[in-house]
Amino acid sequence: MTLLAEYGDDAKLLAGGQSLVPMLALRLAYPSALIDLSAVDGLDYIRRDNAHVAIGAMTRERAAERSDVVRESVPLLAEAMPLIGHIAIRNRGTIGGSAAHSDPSAEIPAVAVALDAEMVARSIARGQRTISAADFFQGFFTTSLEADEALVELRFPVAQPGTGVAFEEATRRHGDFAMVGAAAAVRTEGGRIADGRVVLIGVSDTPVRHAEAEAVLAGAEPTTEAFEASGALAADSVTPPSDLHGTSAYRKQLVRVLVRRALAKAAHRSLEAR
Ligand SMILES: Cc1cc2nc3c(=O)[nH]c(=O)nc-3n(C[C@H](O)[C@H](O)[C@H](O)COP(=O)(O)OP(=O)(O)OC[C@H]3O[C@@H](n4cnc5c(N)ncnc54)[C@H](O)[C@@H]3O)c2cc1C
Repeated sequence: MTLLAEYGDDAKLLAGGQSLVPMLALRLAYPSALIDLSAVDGLDYIRRDNAHVAIGAMTRERAAERSDVVRESVPLLAEAMPLIGHIAIRNRGTIGGSAAHSDPSAEIPAVAVALDAEMVARSIARGQRTISAADFFQGFFTTSLEADEALVELRFPVAQPGTGVAFEEATRRHGDFAMVGAAAAVRTEGGRIADGRVVLIGVSDTPVRHAEAEAVLAGAEPTTEAFEASGALAADSVTPPSDLHGTSAYRKQLVRVLVRRALAKAAHRSLEAR
């Protein structure tokens, strides 16, 4: 933190290096100083209390993927992990690095937004503050962290019993960033949907949580029609970019299909858990 306060905007924090090093190699970033977070003790942990699972920013993605605590208490995060690149990348890449990098196609930011996670930031000047995931991701590779702040912890609410989750993606090749992805968490009660969450990646400059696509699920029976209606609402309200991998119209169609699939899988898992 002291070095960050000293160098501020001129410095870059180096976590797993899986995004920063390629950016340095391509001259997309040219900081005057690199501050290696692996030299900082106490940022690598996964801890559970009654209501939250706290994950230190320097926890490797692979460690979270293999954690029983994450699988049992934050199942959507466990579901997302194997979708990130390849094992070699997850062995180095960190939970905090992925969140701070704020790639709109990344899985960890989507999980944080879907679950109303809290991001804990620290600086010499302001001490510690907590930012909701909804406010943290501000745009392409942009977060609400100040230049002298480091992300030190992500705090995920423990999943309520009977919650089913799914993360569906369309990628050209195994390990690629998703063209479009849909994260879903569904909790059923008495055969109806008590809570349904839908978050998209790859369609805008941040992960997109869909109030309308969620509202149509509230109190509904977990039927194909309900999931289709939710997928259609999500698709209608986004304007994804076109690029060499696919047109905007193709991505909208992916949204429709992936939301339906993710919700169906999540609801099925919720009903099975009951
Ligand atoms: C081939 C390949 C495929 C990939 N596929 C995917 C994928 O499918 N999905 C996906 O989500 N990711 C993917 N990634 C990215 C991977 O998940 C990265 O590990 C992650 O985005 C960045 O984490 P890191 O620890 O490596 O951070 P770094 O690369 O070290 O840092 C990334 C940025 O975050 C900043 N930063 C890091 N830690 C902190 C902190 N604690 N506080 C404040 N700022 C910080 C750095 O200064 C830098 O600007 C892929 C990477 C590669 C190389």
